[in-house]
Amino acid sequence: MKTYLVGGAVRDKLLNYPYHERDWVVVGAHPKDLIEQNYQQVGKDFPVFLHPTTKEEYALARTERKSGAGYHGFICDFSPDITLEEDLSRRDLTINAMAESDKGDIIDPYGGTKDLHNRVLRHVSPAFSEDPLRILRVARFAARYAHLGFVVADETQELMREMSDNGELSTIAAERIWVELTKALNEKSPATFFTTLLDCGALRALFPLWPAALNTQVLTSLNHAADLNLDIDIRFAITCSELNTKQCQTLCKQLRASNSATWLAERCAANIPLPSLNTAEDWLTLLENFDYVRRPQLLTAFITAATQLTPEEERLNKLQNAATALQEIQAANLISQGFKGPALGQALRAERLKKLTELACYK
Ligand code: ATP
Ligand code: MG
Repeated sequence: MKTYLVGGAVRDKLLNYPYHERDWVVVGAHPKDLIEQNYQQVGKDFPVFLHPTTKEEYALARTERKSGAGYHGFICDFSPDITLEEDLSRRDLTINAMAESDKGDIIDPYGGTKDLHNRVLRHVSPAFSEDPLRILRVARFAARYAHLGFVVADETQELMREMSDNGELSTIAAERIWVELTKALNEKSPATFFTTLLDCGALRALFPLWPAALNTQVLTSLNHAADLNLDIDIRFAITCSELNTKQCQTLCKQLRASNSATWLAERCAANIPLPSLNTAEDWLTLLENFDYVRRPQLLTAFITAATQLTPEEERLNKLQNAATALQEIQAANLISQGFKGPALGQALRAERLKKLTELACYK
């Protein structure tokens, strides 16, 4: 039995890029060999084990064969005579299909080192098309390494276009797309994730509403949000800001977006550019829309997102200042005066309106 480091750690080591996890492949072993050595089996469909002390993932070398439509239509063979090269051949990109032996030798049967050197994301074999999730992975790696000059190989681009055109993407579960999307939004150049998917037709195939909403300004703002290390919900909301409310709701539902991401995205779609705000009541209504009393951090997130997208610094500052001023109004004072129930709500609102009206700039 022999063990090799594989996947992202080999790629990122050669690239001198920081990596956070190590994956291993084991050649020439039965599941029982690892179980005897106290590895803990975790894989359901194929044998993946956790190392007894490091808890890193060790997978038995395997081959995969497509057996039907959809993501789960694979037959795996993990007998001990599967070679390292066979295991590497089922991987998505050449730069992900290298291994390192315990002596530090690089095993690179598909030209990954050369593609790393030339900054090319290239598929390993035509079997790439058997799993459409790989299109999203390629777009994600493009987003991670864009600043290093990586581009998608022409033939991979062509294959991704064919796959997008023939409807394969509809077999990916929404949950998996959301996982890939959130990882991609976290990358250094998230805009490249979207441009890669736009270029091959995958984004239109997956989410017909989205492409028209991703104009140059939105994509520039998205990368800027990544430079500023803004959080995922803000980055996602930026990509939705050119949709109308209904389109945004449809997209979030289709993506099974998290509640917090959906909440912010819908408000950005509805309120960027800012609506006309002519009276104290207009300002208060907008603040209420953001549930600013109970969740002031969400208003701040909206303002941060909007700042990336509209040259409205003055009105956004005013919105934040209004919220801050209104935090001073305490329900406790009104309760001690005997207000309760709906009357308390009305009295609170009246106090708030009065306060904003007194601050001349909100009239
Ligand atoms: P990251 O730095 O994001 O962890 P990674 O390359 O290590 O990148 P993983 O998702 O951890 O990616 O997968 C480990 C390896 O398994 C990949 O490098 C690739 O060789 C292979 N792999 C993972 N998912 C797929 C897939 N859908 N199709 C083909 N190969 C895959
Ligand atoms: Mg990894």
